[in-house]
Amino acid sequence: MTTENCIFCKIISGEIPAKLVAESEHAIAFNDISPQQPVHVLIVPRVHKENVTELALANPVEMQDVMRLGAQVAQMLTEGSHRFTFNTGVEAGQSVFHVHGHITSRTPKVAV
Ligand code: 5GP
Ligand code: ZN
Repeated sequence: MTTENCIFCKIISGEIPAKLVAESEHAIAFNDISPQQPVHVLIVPRVHKENVTELALANPVEMQDVMRLGAQVAQMLTEGSHRFTFNTGVEAGQSVFHVHGHITSRTPKVAV
């Protein structure tokens, strides 16, 4: 898939709307359109790479930024318990081929 027909590239460019949660120099975080848990945020590098293996090997600075933004989102939105997962390949459940990490949690931060 090229960047022209990539849904996450279109979200990054603003062509398609998304509910932005946070952003950094190399990545953005937005709510998943079909949340599987009370917290379900996607962490997406601005650079188009197909999966996390490609990103980690070719773009370590962007990879670090994705991990940092995911950690910030987890601290901001959850009580601490969460998953940060990268489906890699069709058989592993990947359906969008622009790398993204899922921050999911059953325990959203309780407002004080
Ligand atoms: P994957 O299955 O590739 O690991 O995850 C893709 C995720 O992207 C799914 O959880 C799906 O709900 C989400 N998704 C697909 N299209 C859109 C969209 O247009 N907007 C948003 N916010 N999420 C999307
Ligand atoms: Zn893309």
